[in-house]
Amino acid sequence: MKILVFNCGSSSIKFKLFHLPEETVLAEGVVDRVGTEDASASLKTPRGKLEIKRAIEDYPHGFSVIKDLLLDPKNGALRSLAEVNACGHRVVHGGEKFSGSMPVDDELEQGIEAVFELAPLHNPPNLTGIQQARQLFGNIPQVACFDTAFHHSIPEIAYRYALPEDLYLDHKIRRYGFHGMSHQFVARRAAKMLGKHKYAVNLITCHLGNGSSVAAIKDGHSIDTSMGLTPLEGLVMGTRSGDLDPGIIFYLHRKGYDTDSLDTLLNKRSGLLGISGSSNDVRDLELKANGGDEKATLALDIFAYRIKKYIGAYLAILNRVDAIIFTGGIGENDSAMRTRVLADMDQLGIIIDDSRNSVHIGEAGEIQAVTSRTKVMVIPTNEELAIARDTYAMTKNIAHGDT
Ligand code: ADP
Repeated sequence: MKILVFNCGSSSIKFKLFHLPEETVLAEGVVDRVGTEDASASLKTPRGKLEIKRAIEDYPHGFSVIKDLLLDPKNGALRSLAEVNACGHRVVHGGEKFSGSMPVDDELEQGIEAVFELAPLHNPPNLTGIQQARQLFGNIPQVACFDTAFHHSIPEIAYRYALPEDLYLDHKIRRYGFHGMSHQFVARRAAKMLGKHKYAVNLITCHLGNGSSVAAIKDGHSIDTSMGLTPLEGLVMGTRSGDLDPGIIFYLHRKGYDTDSLDTLLNKRSGLLGISGSSNDVRDLELKANGGDEKATLALDIFAYRIKKYIGAYLAILNRVDAIIFTGGIGENDSAMRTRVLADMDQLGIIIDDSRNSVHIGEAGEIQAVTSRTKVMVIPTNEELAIARDTYAMTKNIAHGDT
């Protein structure tokens, strides 16, 4: 089956075409800066690369550009759109309703719309992407895969905030958690690598990228995670503050910050960028820190310290942990950051092996020392493949079209 995966953001449409069950990638591409004069679109297939620069007014236009790229006679990936058997879509917020990937129908679309308020920047373009794909591909199955769904198993003790109950009942204010496709993907892969059943592992999964989150996984199910109602809570991120004293917000409000400027401050000007004053990218910061830049060193140290605190908290709630997993751009590639995070945890039975750690850059493997009680693993994530797999599992018996 050919499965086309979409990840639609406010100004970009990423897509990837897979062949399942072989899991080969037939094409991948992106439309960037949708809604502007200087938009661009690109496609990469085993046959070559295509790049377009032109104004792309809106989403329907973006999807028609994707169609042209995929059908390009020279470097495209399809002879006809009818070759696509199903589409899978990343949807950021599934609210309390969706505990797993779901086939798209009108009711599901309404369900995504019902939680627009909880993810105002993400769910509207996610839904537009689904609607465009339904129009473009006609009567083939479409599947929605939610970033929140894997965390549906989090118990009330972990998902409720210490706020009056009506805020939960009337406004649905609770922890939802995000990066679920990634936490689930690496948890399942870890279970395989450990030779255990997927529901027999206790894990702490650290997804460290521009956005970062940690999850506590018990018997294969998420029981807590660092992101909350929104992706702002928890770890220090590229430009997001993560946890802070809510009192800071009133304090700044009284100093004249309005809602929008607070939003920009905490989402776009904080985190690694805010502390270092120079970059949100750990590669730049590692270089600067090695060159003696104290602010860059502080940013990396605070980033690592926050992860260590969450690992400590999750060790306490899980009691037995089979493995700590590192994934995401930073978790997979930055061995120095892994060392920073797990330094001085030997009394807790966690010891990293320096030479194994330096070998596993962007590739899966175990990096703990032989004396470590808990395993430490690097596992590259693949959210698009996770979506393609769910879409395949849900549609393989019903998909139409030519293969
Ligand atoms: P996103 O959350 O946007 O998907 P990624 O998972 O791609 O982000 O992670 C981006 C982060 O990963 C950046 O801070 C970048 O510096 C870091 N990163 C990517 N590649 C490397 C590398 N080879 N070495 C160290 N850090 C890396």
